Amino acid sequence: MATGTTIIKAKSIITMDPGNPRAEALAFDASTGEILAVGTVEACTAAAPTATVTDLGDTVVLPGFVEPHSHPVQSGLVTQAPCHWIAPYVGYPTWADVTAFFATLDAKTPAGEPLMFNGLDRLLQGAAAPTAVSLDEFFPTRPVIILDNSGHLAYFNTALIKLQGWDTKAPADPVGGSYGRLADGSLDGQAFELPAVMEAALPILGKGVPHPLHSAAKWYRLMATHGITSTSDMTYDDTFLKAYEALASAEDCPLRISLYQVSTSEVAGQKLTTANPDRVRKQGIKLWADGSPWIGNAALSFPYLDSPVVRAAGIPLGPAGISVMNYTKDELDAVIDKHAPEGWQMSFHCNGDAALDVVLDVYERGLKKHNLLGTDHRWRIEHLGACHKEQFERAAALGVEASMGPFQFIYWGDLLDGQMFPSEIGSQWQAIGDAFDAGLEVSFHNDGSVTPPNVLLNIQSTITRTTSSGTVHGANQKVTLDQALRAETINGARQLFVDDKYGSLEVGKIADLVELSADPYEMNPMTLATDVSVLGTWLGGRKVDLDAFDAQIQAIDPDPHADLAAAGPPACC
Ligand SMILES: [Zn+2]
Repeated sequence: MATGTTIIKAKSIITMDPGNPRAEALAFDASTGEILAVGTVEACTAAAPTATVTDLGDTVVLPGFVEPHSHPVQSGLVTQAPCHWIAPYVGYPTWADVTAFFATLDAKTPAGEPLMFNGLDRLLQGAAAPTAVSLDEFFPTRPVIILDNSGHLAYFNTALIKLQGWDTKAPADPVGGSYGRLADGSLDGQAFELPAVMEAALPILGKGVPHPLHSAAKWYRLMATHGITSTSDMTYDDTFLKAYEALASAEDCPLRISLYQVSTSEVAGQKLTTANPDRVRKQGIKLWADGSPWIGNAALSFPYLDSPVVRAAGIPLGPAGISVMNYTKDELDAVIDKHAPEGWQMSFHCNGDAALDVVLDVYERGLKKHNLLGTDHRWRIEHLGACHKEQFERAAALGVEASMGPFQFIYWGDLLDGQMFPSEIGSQWQAIGDAFDAGLEVSFHNDGSVTPPNVLLNIQSTITRTTSSGTVHGANQKVTLDQALRAETINGARQLFVDDKYGSLEVGKIADLVELSADPYEMNPMTLATDVSVLGTWLGGRKVDLDAFDAQIQAIDPDPHADLAAAGPPACC
């Protein structure tokens, strides 16, 4: 462990502290990371007279990025080998690209060895819903399962049905899930909702992921390479605790994790003591209002357009309204009444405008009943795809926090605007400008494996309102670079209740840092994400060595963590 003090000097330090926005140097305690001075080299030297000055040259330093809504361990399981990530934005933009990969992989994989894929997006990839029969064309003999990117669906072939013994006796539908069936009751190769998805995937997950902790570590590494130093698990279950503790115990662990336990867990309200609370801590309770706009179970007050894209994806036109909500208002009120007195922060998955009206009713009632209105409760709402300004104003008045997903607009925006919805709705999807105007200090997220955790792309896309094709939709929803940087640093830290330590660089806080190759304020906004690169991160005043982290995980963890395999993919947006 390093001792003494350190001073770093950079081309510029963007502190995210409005009272002292720019500095050239930072002094901190080398063992704790506590910041001693932020300012000129002279001021830092006065605060840390024995420190040597490390000159980072042309590097621009910011507080480490904060993604307040992720699913790190599960994302590792479903995106890293031996699972294959086939999402449109990781190299498979069309169904033809996916099937070409199927052929390549089938040819080089030993006969009979099962395969698992994650990230199929029927809307973006233009894929008809796979069935056992259609998958058998690609995989006639080996068991195969494909997880839909939404996390709510899976598709499997006849060899998997046989592996499960379901060819002789079809299973009953599990509670909370169901299987697609042919007229005679036999399975057609589709599983709906997590209980069925998990039951179908279990024999492959159990055999196919020999070392889940290493998969999780790879996801940590991916987040760190995008400059992230703090994040959360929004579908935490105690099954994951051992993994989070093991990852945190590595000296070069690059991430701090705040845990939000799913409200349906019997132990959701229990306090959690961890070995390293600066790196793993429980923060709140996660609730669900509705589902995903990509498969038609977001609670929207308006219908989809009757278009080829919507029809091909098999999305019911709706409007779905609150009929697709996962819980009744009474059930949600009961969750709040159970856990609000325990002091937990609430966090609600909510995409649809009809769902948000219900969530705000639930929050308003709960905040009043438990005397929390006007206090620093920071109850959160996640995603907010189809929500609008009057709703944001109501949320702001209640003291509610918004974490939004620019990724919905970045990757689906070209379809949302004019193909899925009329332009007046689709161009305004993820109305981030309106949310800031309503007084919300928004944070951004990529939602675990739903989309890659590319912070700089979020910034570029929200300040230019361009999608992945470079097209502008809803220019009125642009935000400023100041707002986008706040969304990726201090706002996320505040929503995680860790802004007393992280999210800005101020005396007394901790030196969690990201090093950038250039100053975002000096770049062309349209190409910021490619013109600026992340050079590295620091955690607690120590530069993170990701290769060392990998080695530490290999060394400390001979345990295969087979129990984790039963946890499966996150069911999020
Ligand atoms: Zn999520």
